Amino acid sequence: MSAASATTTLSVVIPMYNEEAALPALVARLRPALDGTQVSYEVVAVDDGSADRTAELLEEIRLTWPELRIVKLRRNSGHQAALTAGLHSSVGAYVASIDADLQDPPEKIPEMLDLARAQHLDIVYGVRSDRSTDTGFKRWTAGAYYWLMRRMVGKRVPSQAGDFRLLSRDAVEALKALPDQQQVYRLLVPWLGFPSGQVSYFREERVAGETKYPLSKMVRLAVDSITNFSAAPLRIATWLGIASFFGCFGMLAATLGIYIAGHTVPGWTSLFVAMLFLGGIQLICVGLLGEYIGRIYTAVQKRPTFFIGYDSAKQEQASSVGVRG
Ligand code: UDP
Ligand code: MG
Repeated sequence: MSAASATTTLSVVIPMYNEEAALPALVARLRPALDGTQVSYEVVAVDDGSADRTAELLEEIRLTWPELRIVKLRRNSGHQAALTAGLHSSVGAYVASIDADLQDPPEKIPEMLDLARAQHLDIVYGVRSDRSTDTGFKRWTAGAYYWLMRRMVGKRVPSQAGDFRLLSRDAVEALKALPDQQQVYRLLVPWLGFPSGQVSYFREERVAGETKYPLSKMVRLAVDSITNFSAAPLRIATWLGIASFFGCFGMLAATLGIYIAGHTVPGWTSLFVAMLFLGGIQLICVGLLGEYIGRIYTAVQKRPTFFIGYDSAKQEQASSVGVRG
């Protein structure tokens, strides 16, 4: 019997990329926490194209834990795409998402569920009360990121909420219906503006393994976040244009003055500086335009952000009616 059915109360989505080292510790804490809730649940482990033994370990664990469901992506598609795959596969009336590395405590999930049910909330954010275990650099970049996001999306973005949260089925369906290609859930969820609550927690250190978010992925998340929610960078071009227009008036007056005084040769420096400056501004503006055009291009292409290679729940369904997938 598959654990996933229409009566499932809670789905827990966990994106995993090369998490073989963290997996045993995760199961040891997550399973008792969920079994203790007395509700029917499924754990949707999304294997984001791991190259290590994550998939094999999951299969082993599933033998003794029928509530564990494995959704395997055909290639590494990134954290947010793995989350999308998990949300799309989940069937629960509530869907929690949590990282695999135990930086977010699984014991808080039942608390989130209770809060959502008691107060009829659609969203319960896990908010980090303390990030002292993160490196100074991570804290600083995260601080800058949330400051910018609050200015763009509005005050609804909790300043220290990552991807540890609980959503109601209605919220999940609303997210699934959005046409966005590069989803950034930590912004899309607050943007929904559904009734929400918070549960605060202490962010622990990664239990095992290394961060799967190198600087390049962090920069990509930040660029996606900005371009998904704001056209403000495009306006930089306008402001720079206006500023250089007035700047040029000053230079025109100076140049004419020098010409009238009969010293035309010394103007070379200012000419060269202005040329370099304007050339630089133009390249920046063309680059910014390119960012947005690139996104329009991807949106028009409508390519899927992930491919599901295998879903243990579907496999079970198929074998129970005699069809081999
Ligand atoms: N992750 C993923 N695909 C990726 C990168 C990360 O599914 O391409 C998962 C990872 O396994 C973890 C979560 O996303 O469960 C958050 O990653 P990580 O803990 O490395 O990020 P950090 O906490 O360092 O920001
Ligand atoms: Mg982590």
